[in-house]
Amino acid sequence: MKEEEIVISFIGAGPGDPELLTLKGKRLIDSADVVIYAGSLVNPAVLDGCKEGTKIYNSALMDLDEVIEVMKEAEAAGKKCVRVHTGDPAIYGAHREQMDRLDQLGIKYEVIPGVSSFLATAAVLNAEYTLPGKSQSVILTRMEGRTPMPPGEKLTDLAKHHATMVIFLSIGFMDEMVSQLLAGGYTKETPVAVVYKATWPDQRILRGTLGDIASKVEEAGIKKTALTVVGDFLGDEHDLSKLYDKTFTTEFRVGKP
Ligand code: SAH
Repeated sequence: MKEEEIVISFIGAGPGDPELLTLKGKRLIDSADVVIYAGSLVNPAVLDGCKEGTKIYNSALMDLDEVIEVMKEAEAAGKKCVRVHTGDPAIYGAHREQMDRLDQLGIKYEVIPGVSSFLATAAVLNAEYTLPGKSQSVILTRMEGRTPMPPGEKLTDLAKHHATMVIFLSIGFMDEMVSQLLAGGYTKETPVAVVYKATWPDQRILRGTLGDIASKVEEAGIKKTALTVVGDFLGDEHDLSKLYDKTFTTEFRVGKP
Protein backbone atom coordinates (compact mmCIF):
# COMPACT_ATOMS: atom_id res chain seq x y z
CA MET A 1 0.00 0.00 0.00
CA LYS A 2 1.30 3.46 -0.86
CA GLU A 3 1.84 5.81 2.10
CA GLU A 4 -0.45 8.45 0.47
CA GLU A 5 -3.39 5.99 0.58
CA ILE A 6 -3.09 5.32 4.30
CA VAL A 7 -5.43 7.34 6.50
CA ILE A 8 -4.74 5.87 9.93
CA SER A 9 -1.34 4.84 11.29
CA PHE A 10 -1.39 2.82 14.49
CA ILE A 11 1.90 3.65 16.17
CA GLY A 12 3.69 1.93 19.03
CA ALA A 13 4.91 4.85 21.14
CA GLY A 14 7.37 2.77 23.15
CA PRO A 15 7.52 2.40 26.91
CA GLY A 16 7.98 6.05 27.92
CA ASP A 17 11.31 7.57 26.92
CA PRO A 18 10.42 9.61 23.80
CA GLU A 19 13.76 8.63 22.22
CA LEU A 20 12.50 5.05 22.08
CA LEU A 21 9.96 5.95 19.44
CA THR A 22 10.88 4.53 16.00
CA LEU A 23 12.04 7.00 13.36
CA LYS A 24 8.98 6.12 11.30
CA GLY A 25 6.60 6.56 14.23
CA LYS A 26 8.13 9.95 15.02
CA ARG A 27 7.93 11.12 11.41
CA LEU A 28 4.25 10.14 11.16
CA ILE A 29 3.37 11.75 14.52
CA ASP A 30 5.18 14.96 13.58
CA SER A 31 3.32 15.23 10.26
CA ALA A 32 -0.16 14.10 11.46
CA ASP A 33 -3.25 16.30 11.25
CA VAL A 34 -5.12 14.32 13.91
CA VAL A 35 -3.66 12.42 16.89
CA ILE A 36 -5.55 9.99 19.12
CA TYR A 37 -3.30 8.82 21.94
CA ALA A 38 -3.77 6.50 24.90
CA GLY A 39 -3.36 9.19 27.55
CA SER A 40 -3.38 6.81 30.50
CA LEU A 41 0.04 5.40 29.55
CA VAL A 42 1.63 7.18 26.59
CA ASN A 43 4.20 9.80 27.57
CA PRO A 44 2.79 13.10 26.23
CA ALA A 45 6.39 14.07 25.37
CA VAL A 46 6.17 11.77 22.31
CA LEU A 47 3.76 14.35 20.88
CA ASP A 48 6.17 17.29 21.35
CA GLY A 49 7.00 17.45 17.63
CA CYS A 50 3.36 17.67 16.43
CA LYS A 51 2.58 20.39 13.86
CA GLU A 52 0.83 23.49 15.08
CA GLY A 53 -2.92 23.11 14.73
CA THR A 54 -2.87 19.30 15.02
CA LYS A 55 -6.05 18.09 16.73
CA ILE A 56 -5.14 15.92 19.71
CA TYR A 57 -7.58 13.50 21.37
CA ASN A 58 -6.98 11.47 24.52
CA SER A 59 -8.55 8.04 24.04
CA ALA A 60 -8.60 7.39 27.80
CA LEU A 61 -11.73 9.57 27.81
CA MET A 62 -13.34 7.97 24.74
CA ASP A 63 -15.14 4.74 23.89
CA LEU A 64 -14.59 2.69 20.72
CA ASP A 65 -17.42 4.42 18.79
CA GLU A 66 -15.98 7.85 19.60
CA VAL A 67 -12.49 6.80 18.48
CA ILE A 68 -13.87 5.45 15.19
CA GLU A 69 -15.91 8.63 14.67
CA VAL A 70 -12.75 10.76 14.87
CA MET A 71 -11.06 8.41 12.38
CA LYS A 72 -14.04 8.62 9.99
CA GLU A 73 -14.01 12.43 10.16
CA ALA A 74 -10.28 12.45 9.41
CA GLU A 75 -10.85 10.31 6.35
CA ALA A 76 -13.75 12.45 5.11
CA ALA A 77 -11.61 15.59 5.45
CA GLY A 78 -8.64 13.98 3.66
CA LYS A 79 -6.52 14.22 6.80
CA LYS A 80 -3.83 11.91 8.19
CA CYS A 81 -4.54 10.46 11.61
CA VAL A 82 -2.17 8.67 13.98
CA ARG A 83 -3.46 6.37 16.71
CA VAL A 84 -0.75 6.24 19.33
CA HIS A 85 -0.60 3.22 21.63
CA THR A 86 1.84 2.57 24.44
CA GLY A 87 4.68 0.09 23.91
CA ASP A 88 3.67 -2.01 20.91
CA PRO A 89 0.00 -2.06 19.95
CA ALA A 90 0.03 -5.86 19.53
CA ILE A 91 0.37 -6.40 23.28
CA TYR A 92 -2.88 -5.58 25.15
CA GLY A 93 -3.32 -2.65 22.78
CA ALA A 94 -6.95 -3.32 21.77
CA HIS A 95 -6.15 -2.16 18.24
CA ARG A 96 -7.64 -5.26 16.59
CA GLU A 97 -11.21 -4.08 17.28
CA GLN A 98 -10.35 -0.72 15.72
CA MET A 99 -8.80 -2.39 12.64
CA ASP A 100 -11.92 -4.57 12.26
CA ARG A 101 -14.13 -1.46 12.23
CA LEU A 102 -11.82 0.29 9.74
CA ASP A 103 -12.00 -2.80 7.49
CA GLN A 104 -15.80 -2.59 7.56
CA LEU A 105 -15.64 1.10 6.68
CA GLY A 106 -13.03 0.59 3.96
CA ILE A 107 -10.60 3.00 5.65
CA LYS A 108 -6.94 2.16 4.98
CA TYR A 109 -4.51 1.79 7.84
CA GLU A 110 -1.08 0.48 8.75
CA VAL A 111 0.66 -0.53 11.99
CA ILE A 112 4.07 0.80 13.02
CA PRO A 113 5.55 -1.39 15.76
CA GLY A 114 7.02 0.00 18.96
CA VAL A 115 9.30 -1.03 21.81
CA SER A 116 7.05 -2.93 24.18
CA SER A 117 7.43 -2.32 27.90
CA PHE A 118 8.43 -5.97 28.34
CA LEU A 119 11.54 -5.34 26.25
CA ALA A 120 12.26 -2.04 27.97
CA THR A 121 11.98 -3.91 31.26
CA ALA A 122 14.61 -6.47 30.21
CA ALA A 123 16.83 -3.58 29.11
CA VAL A 124 16.67 -1.68 32.38
CA LEU A 125 17.26 -4.92 34.31
CA ASN A 126 20.28 -5.76 32.09
CA ALA A 127 18.57 -9.11 31.68
CA GLU A 128 18.33 -11.70 28.92
CA TYR A 129 14.98 -13.49 29.01
CA THR A 130 16.23 -16.50 27.03
CA LEU A 131 19.18 -17.59 29.11
CA PRO A 132 20.85 -20.88 27.98
CA GLY A 133 20.14 -23.72 30.36
CA LYS A 134 17.54 -21.69 32.28
CA SER A 135 14.74 -20.65 29.97
CA GLN A 136 14.35 -20.53 26.21
CA SER A 137 10.73 -19.39 26.16
CA VAL A 138 8.97 -16.23 27.28
CA ILE A 139 5.34 -16.13 28.38
CA LEU A 140 3.64 -12.74 28.23
CA THR A 141 0.48 -12.83 30.29
CA ARG A 142 -1.72 -11.16 32.86
CA MET A 143 -3.77 -12.11 35.90
CA GLU A 144 -7.44 -12.64 35.69
CA GLY A 145 -9.02 -9.37 36.75
CA ARG A 146 -12.10 -7.70 35.33
CA THR A 147 -11.15 -9.28 31.98
CA PRO A 148 -11.42 -13.09 32.36
CA MET A 149 -8.67 -15.44 31.15
CA PRO A 150 -9.47 -18.10 28.51
CA PRO A 151 -9.35 -21.77 29.64
CA GLY A 152 -5.85 -23.11 30.27
CA GLU A 153 -4.30 -19.65 30.64
CA LYS A 154 -4.54 -19.16 34.38
CA LEU A 155 -1.24 -18.18 35.97
CA THR A 156 -1.13 -21.56 37.75
CA ASP A 157 -1.34 -23.36 34.38
CA LEU A 158 1.31 -21.21 32.73
CA ALA A 159 3.69 -21.36 35.70
CA LYS A 160 4.07 -25.12 35.16
CA HIS A 161 6.32 -24.47 32.16
CA HIS A 162 8.98 -22.71 34.24
CA ALA A 163 9.54 -20.39 31.31
CA THR A 164 10.42 -16.74 31.76
CA MET A 165 7.14 -15.05 32.72
CA VAL A 166 6.28 -11.42 32.11
CA ILE A 167 3.09 -10.41 33.85
CA PHE A 168 1.26 -7.30 32.64
CA LEU A 169 -1.63 -5.34 34.17
CA SER A 170 -1.51 -7.15 37.48
CA ILE A 171 0.55 -5.16 39.96
CA GLY A 172 -2.59 -4.54 42.03
CA PHE A 173 -2.97 -8.27 42.75
CA MET A 174 0.50 -9.14 44.02
CA ASP A 175 -0.53 -11.51 46.83
CA GLU A 176 -2.82 -13.48 44.53
CA MET A 177 -0.15 -13.50 41.80
CA VAL A 178 2.43 -14.96 44.17
CA SER A 179 0.10 -17.68 45.45
CA GLN A 180 -0.84 -18.72 41.92
CA LEU A 181 2.82 -18.89 40.86
CA LEU A 182 3.69 -20.96 43.93
CA ALA A 183 0.71 -23.24 43.24
CA GLY A 184 2.04 -23.64 39.69
CA GLY A 185 5.35 -25.00 40.94
CA TYR A 186 7.68 -22.08 41.49
CA THR A 187 9.34 -21.82 44.90
CA LYS A 188 9.62 -18.96 47.37
CA GLU A 189 13.27 -18.61 46.29
CA THR A 190 12.41 -18.00 42.60
CA PRO A 191 13.81 -14.60 41.64
CA VAL A 192 11.36 -11.84 40.69
CA ALA A 193 11.69 -8.23 39.58
CA VAL A 194 9.09 -5.50 39.39
CA VAL A 195 9.76 -2.56 37.13
CA TYR A 196 7.61 0.54 37.52
CA LYS A 197 7.48 2.94 34.56
CA ALA A 198 10.45 1.48 32.70
CA THR A 199 12.46 4.24 30.94
CA TRP A 200 10.43 7.12 32.48
CA PRO A 201 12.29 9.63 34.68
CA ASP A 202 10.52 8.19 37.75
CA GLN A 203 11.30 4.55 36.89
CA ARG A 204 11.73 2.21 39.86
CA ILE A 205 13.17 -1.29 40.05
CA LEU A 206 12.44 -3.76 42.82
CA ARG A 207 14.26 -7.08 42.97
CA GLY A 208 13.37 -9.95 45.26
CA THR A 209 11.99 -13.45 45.37
CA LEU A 210 8.49 -14.86 45.28
CA GLY A 211 8.81 -15.01 49.06
CA ASP A 212 9.27 -11.27 49.58
CA ILE A 213 8.24 -9.37 46.43
CA ALA A 214 4.63 -8.70 47.48
CA SER A 215 5.72 -6.90 50.66
CA LYS A 216 8.39 -4.93 48.73
CA VAL A 217 5.76 -3.73 46.25
CA GLU A 218 3.41 -2.83 49.09
CA GLU A 219 6.16 -0.88 50.90
CA ALA A 220 7.11 0.96 47.73
CA GLY A 221 3.45 1.90 47.18
CA ILE A 222 3.49 0.75 43.54
CA LYS A 223 -0.07 0.34 42.30
CA LYS A 224 0.05 0.64 38.51
CA THR A 225 2.20 0.87 35.35
CA ALA A 226 4.52 -1.92 36.40
CA LEU A 227 5.56 -5.28 35.04
CA THR A 228 6.44 -8.32 37.10
CA VAL A 229 9.04 -10.66 35.61
CA VAL A 230 9.63 -14.08 37.12
CA GLY A 231 12.15 -16.84 36.56
CA ASP A 232 15.64 -18.19 36.95
CA PHE A 233 16.92 -15.91 34.18
CA LEU A 234 17.21 -13.34 36.98
CA GLY A 235 19.61 -15.58 38.92
CA ASP A 236 23.40 -15.65 38.75
CA GLU A 237 23.86 -19.03 37.11
CA HIS A 238 23.47 -20.02 33.49
CA ASP A 239 25.18 -21.89 30.65
CA LEU A 240 27.15 -20.10 27.95
CA SER A 241 25.62 -19.74 24.51
CA LYS A 242 26.56 -22.05 21.65
CA LEU A 243 26.50 -19.07 19.30
CA TYR A 244 29.76 -17.67 20.67
CA ASP A 245 31.26 -20.97 21.86
CA LYS A 246 34.84 -21.30 20.53
CA THR A 247 34.38 -25.01 19.75
CA PHE A 248 30.96 -24.70 18.07
CA THR A 249 30.70 -24.41 14.28
CA THR A 250 28.08 -22.03 12.92
CA GLU A 251 27.11 -20.94 9.41
CA PHE A 252 29.69 -18.15 9.65
CA ARG A 253 32.50 -19.54 11.77
CA VAL A 254 34.36 -22.88 12.11
CA GLY A 255 34.75 -24.11 15.67
CA LYS A 256 38.31 -24.64 16.96
CA PRO A 257 39.03 -27.93 18.78
N1 SAH B 1 1.08 -2.25 24.65
C1 SAH B 1 1.78 -2.09 25.89
C2 SAH B 1 1.07 -2.75 27.07
C3 SAH B 1 -0.28 -2.15 27.38
S1 SAH B 1 -1.04 -2.89 28.75
C4 SAH B 1 3.22 -2.57 25.73
O1 SAH B 1 3.57 -3.15 24.70
O2 SAH B 1 4.01 -2.35 26.64
C5 SAH B 1 -0.59 -1.82 30.05
C6 SAH B 1 0.36 -2.50 31.00
O3 SAH B 1 1.65 -2.54 30.41
C7 SAH B 1 0.57 -1.79 32.33
O4 SAH B 1 -0.44 -2.15 33.26
C8 SAH B 1 1.90 -2.33 32.75
O5 SAH B 1 1.78 -3.65 33.25
C9 SAH B 1 2.63 -2.42 31.42
N2 SAH B 1 3.43 -1.21 31.12
C10 SAH B 1 3.21 -0.30 30.15
N3 SAH B 1 4.21 0.62 30.12
C11 SAH B 1 5.08 0.26 31.10
C12 SAH B 1 6.33 0.78 31.55
N4 SAH B 1 6.89 1.85 31.00
N5 SAH B 1 6.95 0.14 32.58
C13 SAH B 1 6.41 -0.97 33.15
N6 SAH B 1 5.23 -1.50 32.76
C14 SAH B 1 4.58 -0.90 31.75
